[in-house]
Amino acid sequence: MKHLNEPSFRESVDLMFNRAVALMDLPPGLEEKIRVCNATYTVRFGVRLRGKIQTFTGYRSVHSEHMEPVKGGIRYALSVNQDEVEALAALMTYKCALVEAPFGGSKGGLCVDPREWDEHELESITRRFAYELIKRDLINPSQNVPAPDMGTGEREMAWIADQYRRMNTTDINARACVTGKPLNAGGIAGRVEATGRGVQYALREFFRHPEDMAAAGLSGSLDGKRVIVQGLGNVGYHAAKFLQEEDGAVITGIIEHDGALYSDEGLDVEAVRGWIMKHGGVTGYPDATHTAEGAAVLEHECDILIPAAMEGVINLGNAERIKAALIIEAANGPVTAGADEVLRKKGTVIIPDMYANAGGVTVSYFEWVKNLSHIRFGRMGRRQEEARHQLIVDELERLDRHLGDAWVMSPDFKQKYLRGAGELELVRSGLDDTMRIAYQSMREVWHGREDVTDLRTAAYLVSINKVAASYRALGL
Ligand code: NAD
Repeated sequence: MKHLNEPSFRESVDLMFNRAVALMDLPPGLEEKIRVCNATYTVRFGVRLRGKIQTFTGYRSVHSEHMEPVKGGIRYALSVNQDEVEALAALMTYKCALVEAPFGGSKGGLCVDPREWDEHELESITRRFAYELIKRDLINPSQNVPAPDMGTGEREMAWIADQYRRMNTTDINARACVTGKPLNAGGIAGRVEATGRGVQYALREFFRHPEDMAAAGLSGSLDGKRVIVQGLGNVGYHAAKFLQEEDGAVITGIIEHDGALYSDEGLDVEAVRGWIMKHGGVTGYPDATHTAEGAAVLEHECDILIPAAMEGVINLGNAERIKAALIIEAANGPVTAGADEVLRKKGTVIIPDMYANAGGVTVSYFEWVKNLSHIRFGRMGRRQEEARHQLIVDELERLDRHLGDAWVMSPDFKQKYLRGAGELELVRSGLDDTMRIAYQSMREVWHGREDVTDLRTAAYLVSINKVAASYRALGL
């Protein structure tokens, strides 16, 4: 995807890392220790399918074990390679540190096009890949905990969890070996939507700070802002849907693998998603202009650009022509190091990937804690909370009767106030809090230091400081 003569994805991440550490005062050698990937395991395995043995190549890379378990998704795509997996593992280290999820960074990938295989074939491939990783402790509740990424979802995570359980029949914490599982297999409410929800919470927090909006030349609120989204998969779909339905944003462009849709009046995200599910792409969707040259729509006028598909899509080949005032990196590494520099000079504000898409790992953290504690969030406190609220409502109703028209409760107050928080409400509250606090830690550095002029460098500074503190505590 990247433009010719640009560094690889991993080199790009390293360049951004180097820019940040140049502004820090780390002990000699620690910078190198943090930057390098500790280990990458490559496995080639055969699965008997369609009358012959098919060979697959997979990776699991561990970037940093300053905290364990290490955490990071498993990606299914033909383009998966060692460089990409290592870049993504490094980003996981920084991401977890930034949002205070107590994990080191890891990532996995399998060179496979999931669309080429039936469900039962994919199950055999996934179970075999999981077997290879489990027997080397590269999937393990206390050492290495994968999650979904591009091309994988709840279904694959359920197969992996079951494979681990079969191989570790007495491990009481077996379910915590992977996150992003379906609810009925040890998952948590709100995990599927978490990364997109996190993008929404990140934007809401950005729009709470007039100074930050001004840096991008924006003002007001999310209401009416014109948004272009690339990739209507798990992350892009949820982000676009919530921004449209709950914040009044207008989704003017949707870019997919087979072209892009554009409409000045706004696209109906739910309808487009339905069309993609039925037809496999956006081609033929009736209520919009379709262009086969999808990537060109990245360059259209808009307030907010959300690349939510893959890395390297904004590169030296198109950076100069990008018109969005604000880019929020829902995907990992969508902006190359070269493009980052061009955009910074142009004054485009970029909310960086390590923060923007951290909603997934944040809710994965909640799921892992739920699995280890063997109890659903909210189960102990919810009814007690409701009972205490009932006391207040009873008292207000007594005053209501006493004071008559002078004091009348609004009609839906009772219903809203009485409802105790269930798991979904608690997960959303924990995610919102995480996204707000992490954003504030970045903007403090962004506005507080003269030598820091962008959010990405600020994010690296915050997270590298935290990783360095862990290493120091380990006695390294
Ligand atoms: P997904 O497979 O659900 O969706 C990806 C979407 O992008 C698909 O709809 C696909 O058709 C589309 N796409 C593929 N090639 C494209 C192209 N050339 N142009 C436009 N669209 C294209 O994947 P996802 O889980 O939504 O992940 C997307 C990005 O978000 C990745 O970079 C991933 O690493 C990152 N991410 C995902 C999660 C998560 O929880 N799933 C968490 C953090 C980061």
